[in-house]
Amino acid sequence: MSIYHVWARFNLYSFEDELTIFDRRQVPPIEYDAIVTAYKQEFFKCDLHDGYSETSYLVVLKINKNKLEELRLIQPLEWEYDEKINKKEKLNIEDGFFDEGYTKLKITNSMKFNSGTGKLSFRSLYQGSMYSDDVSENCINSLKKNDLDIKGILAGLRKSPRFIGKEEGGFSFTWKKGEYEASNLNAVMPKTIYKADEVEVNFPCCSKNQKFNTNMFKSQWGIRKLYCEDCDKYHTNFDQYFTFQKEKINFNQCGIDGYKDEEEEIIYGSIIRPLSNKNDKIDFIINE
Ligand SMILES: [Zn+2]
Repeated sequence: MSIYHVWARFNLYSFEDELTIFDRRQVPPIEYDAIVTAYKQEFFKCDLHDGYSETSYLVVLKINKNKLEELRLIQPLEWEYDEKINKKEKLNIEDGFFDEGYTKLKITNSMKFNSGTGKLSFRSLYQGSMYSDDVSENCINSLKKNDLDIKGILAGLRKSPRFIGKEEGGFSFTWKKGEYEASNLNAVMPKTIYKADEVEVNFPCCSKNQKFNTNMFKSQWGIRKLYCEDCDKYHTNFDQYFTFQKEKINFNQCGIDGYKDEEEEIIYGSIIRPLSNKNDKIDFIINE
């Protein structure tokens, strides 16, 4: 059985929206826009941008038989830092997603990469540059300290999460030589989607009932409205006129083909693990 351990937390500003994974030898010294564009192709970018001002992230280690199986960067939803986090029987860092109805994980992008040294650096290309000239150095030099720290955790010596400061510009540690797979993930709020002809529209103007059809929408002054041809009437706030099996539709949980059928998504984080032929399906920690 695997256990999860919160190793570290760090904060990012919305414009410092990423951590790029480099083999330790390839960590770039300075960030220029042109170089950053080139990195995008070659190296995996943990896309942590949430559009808010500042967010806390957690670095979570998945451990199986004293070996590091997986690393997750999670942006917990509705979660406050809890000093006792690693002393709890079960990590509660994903509760916020479930409380809000985000019960599915979806991979938004993923890539495979190779590490020749097995020494990985998670380097922020923006973070840190404002605070220190030596952010690359700081990031690389954190290797020894982090290796010791993680070794202790793998040996079962529990440690409180440490804080990674902005001036550190990221973090490095030794994992495994070889192939990795990394993915960015969103948490998704699943919706039940009805077929258009399963939904009835009850027009308030003439009380007629009709099967739903997207042609019933007409734009008036740039706003989408429900239009009744018989009465030549435009209706606003029309969600209330839609029924499925005579029941009003709750559009937070349901949608219709072609209308409000998009599921809400929010950033969950990134998952990185050495490539093996028995990689498990990606799921919430809480579902393990
Ligand atoms: Zn009508």
